Amino acid sequence: MARIDLDNIRHAYMPAPKRDEDFALKRVHHTFDDGGAYALLGPSGCGKTTLLNIMSGLLRPTEGKILFDGRDVTGLSTEERNIAQVFQFPVVYDTMTVYDNLAFPLRNRGVAADEIDRRVTETLAMIGLAERARQKARGLTADDKQKIALGRGLVRSDVSAILFDEPLTVIDPHMKWVLRSQLKELHRRFSFTMVYVTHDQTEALTFADQVVVMNEGEIVQIGTPEELFERPNHTFVGYFIGSPGMNVLPVVLDGAVARIGSHVMTLPGATGPVGAQRTELGIRPEYVRIGREGIPVTVERVEDVGRRKIVHASIDGHPLAAIVPEDEAVPAEPHVRFEPAGINVYADSWRMDLGEAS
Ligand code: ADP
Ligand code: MG
Repeated sequence: MARIDLDNIRHAYMPAPKRDEDFALKRVHHTFDDGGAYALLGPSGCGKTTLLNIMSGLLRPTEGKILFDGRDVTGLSTEERNIAQVFQFPVVYDTMTVYDNLAFPLRNRGVAADEIDRRVTETLAMIGLAERARQKARGLTADDKQKIALGRGLVRSDVSAILFDEPLTVIDPHMKWVLRSQLKELHRRFSFTMVYVTHDQTEALTFADQVVVMNEGEIVQIGTPEELFERPNHTFVGYFIGSPGMNVLPVVLDGAVARIGSHVMTLPGATGPVGAQRTELGIRPEYVRIGREGIPVTVERVEDVGRRKIVHASIDGHPLAAIVPEDEAVPAEPHVRFEPAGINVYADSWRMDLGEAS
């Protein structure tokens, strides 16, 4: 396994790119630690596959370098980098049996027959295909084929890293959950460096120790699921993670005071001088308290979601969601308060330091 450094990577699919918009990856500078379990999370089209293909060597970046354990591999092929990659749609050898599909990459590398048998048998059990070992891949369903592709990614123990590109897209929801837990278990046992691409926050948050959130060709935050929830670095992370996502309200900042429309509230700390075009306050629905005190709101509708209710309200026309326990009534003249621990402020979409000590 290897530590992977992405050194000032930029990538454009067009020749002679000039402006930032010409780049599918604007600038990525990041280290994936040896043995880490990472998720690359972001909406469709943000550059996840591009970044993964640059790491594996399928794509050569327009600018920048890739280092494996400090060695420059930018010019090396996937094979030379010794990477296992599992794609979104199954790539299998139709005419081979399930067993041979998994044995193939090991035979290619001259692994001893008894070792091949041991690893293939173990991997087949893990992906739930032991009973189909002797069947030809051709006749299998799309999700069985994807399990084979997953198995091929997992069967080798000597790879530098295993890269997964939305590998469970075609798998049914229950099996998805099973396979994801197994990947996590595998990571615990063998400490592979794993990078798992997904646009699904649940998948990212359950699989990874570190989640790399991407938007429009850039990494906007890297953190544990908890950090992404509590301290979104960028309003995009706030929206994208959580259900519903973080509320973002336009505010005017003045030291430790924020003005929301005609209302005033005190912040948990003071901001320094603000040179930004746009300042906002971020508060997750989990930290909004509805009661008789605070800032008056208009309740638009209440949505029942099991043991909780989502109250959709507005402050001076700006939408605001709050999560309240199922049995809590919304008062006739509702007001809201924000838990200080949940307050973040943003200047031009990036989080500002509130001088946490004060
Ligand atoms: P994701 O995997 O996050 O959905 P991609 O990395 O596939 O995103 O794509 C990032 C951007 O690059 C998108 O705007 C996409 O249209 C563009 N793109 C991807 N592949 C190609 C390609 N082969 N040629 C031209 N543009 C591409
Ligand atoms: Mg993709």
